[in-house]
Amino acid sequence: MHERSLVRGLIEQVLEEARIRGLGQIHEIKIEIGEFSGVESLLVNSAFDEMAGEYWSTPVQLMVDVIPLTASCEACHDNFRVMDFRFVCPKCGGGDVTITAGEEMRLVSVRAEALI
Ligand SMILES: [Zn+2]
Repeated sequence: MHERSLVRGLIEQVLEEARIRGLGQIHEIKIEIGEFSGVESLLVNSAFDEMAGEYWSTPVQLMVDVIPLTASCEACHDNFRVMDFRFVCPKCGGGDVTITAGEEMRLVSVRAEALI
């Protein structure tokens, strides 16, 4: 499953971050998932719940923010929310648009206890 390998990558990133920053017990991980990333947030959540126990003995909460798909028009530079995956500028009707957000999944923050 696609989501499982993404979650594994995410957990490894968190572990690396925790090692570098010298974090103790991790309580909460916050991520963003773009609505156009092809990643299903519910599947990410369930994959995380399944896999977190392999890495941590205490419960870790995964918070997912879904980021709307937005794009900007190359012709009139309008920034707009893409609805129903219609990549057409609502202002000038131009079809030459660039996606500005909503394409990726990224780690936002990790809440943890500091090591004493
Ligand atoms: Zn436009």
